[in-house]
Amino acid sequence: MLLNIGDKKTKFLLSLAKTPLLFYPHYKYHLPLPTVLMVENTNHCNAECVMCPRDTLSRKRGFMDFGLFEKIMREVSSLRRKPVTHLHGFGEPLLDKLLAERVQHAKTCGITHTYIVTNASLLFPETSRKVIGAGLDKMKISFYGTDEESYNTTMKGLNFKVTFQNITEFLRIRKDMKRGNPRLILQYIPNETNHAKTEEFKALWSALIDTKVGDCLNVSSLHNYGGGRPYNHLGKKIVSVCYFPWTTMSVLWDGRVVTCCMDSNGVQVVGDLNSQSIQEVWNGAVLSRVRDNFRKLDYRDYPVCLSCDWVRRR
Ligand code: SF4
Repeated sequence: MLLNIGDKKTKFLLSLAKTPLLFYPHYKYHLPLPTVLMVENTNHCNAECVMCPRDTLSRKRGFMDFGLFEKIMREVSSLRRKPVTHLHGFGEPLLDKLLAERVQHAKTCGITHTYIVTNASLLFPETSRKVIGAGLDKMKISFYGTDEESYNTTMKGLNFKVTFQNITEFLRIRKDMKRGNPRLILQYIPNETNHAKTEEFKALWSALIDTKVGDCLNVSSLHNYGGGRPYNHLGKKIVSVCYFPWTTMSVLWDGRVVTCCMDSNGVQVVGDLNSQSIQEVWNGAVLSRVRDNFRKLDYRDYPVCLSCDWVRRR
């Protein structure tokens, strides 16, 4: 069964898995390797979206060295079960001139599911052809407006007309190339600056995407980005076990591994793939301690988690 974070059944199963009383005894076990590997190709970005806490980014900006990327992929290629691999992080992945090469390399290493999240402002026809040709499997596009005013105000620094044109061209090019991938998820987050026009968003894109190849629309909601934004009230009590250390490995562009992608400043480091292997980090003492603390709902040593709204709700 393929779990889809958007559907009700998956949400229900995850809410059960996050409930300590029910699952506490099982938290001492973990899979031998992550099922999702998030590899940040860059933390540079060309936008200043109002909801994104980029203004709090103090970490050095850069692009992942291709040699380090190859080392990570080499390790993945030797695994029997390859993780779903995200090739983006706290930045805009299309700023990376080597993105298509990275996708292609990941595919030659046997990764069956590659994925990026982009704002598509740089998804010009040549880039579209490159990422389609490289074999990218899925691409989520953040598109947080329904017209020039709402889009340009919310996704500051970007231009509604340019991005809209890029996406429609991408859909045409993919069809001309007779490819079904990358499948698109077009995402909207209703908020104050875009006037929460969810129905208009759906009307804008429904006729353009190709649901037969698996394109879809997604309406998401605001969260606190690990304390970077105060959208949701933090209840007094932490009630949920965060399952990231049991499922996902997040690698920053410089090779350091952090507890999750919310840790945009690299505060909760659990390893370094420059000097360690994926297995060493995943099964090492630091991450074991994190799991042990998380399962007891003890987040005292994790400042990003203490500001995270995900563990304050079921
Ligand atoms: S900040 Fe901590 S609690 Fe929140 S998602 Fe990340 S690891 Fe989990």
